[in-house]
Amino acid sequence: MASFTAYQCDTCKRLFSPPHGFCGRCGARSLRSVTLSGRGTLLSFTTIRVPPARFKGQEPYDIAVIDLEEGLRVTARLKVPVRREATIGEGVVFEGLVEEGPLFRLV
Ligand SMILES: [Zn+2]
Repeated sequence: MASFTAYQCDTCKRLFSPPHGFCGRCGARSLRSVTLSGRGTLLSFTTIRVPPARFKGQEPYDIAVIDLEEGLRVTARLKVPVRREATIGEGVVFEGLVEEGPLFRLV
């Protein structure tokens, strides 16, 4: 499991990913990178069968909304092993960054 890099506002401590130019909550411009555990819970997911042009040939693939244990919600690719189905509430771990963004897999 890889560690997940997020960004945190120095003023109000809100977490972000991907990085923002300023804090969307308090407007502060001082954000720093923080390392999170990479562990989270599957909040929702969907299988993409008709992808946008730039992802043609990758279908079908799964996109998930994941709540990380530190309280950050991220959208990511989800790797589901063959002959297994994802279930809402299931544990996931960060596997790494791919061209399309963060990739998580079922635990
Ligand atoms: Zn802030």
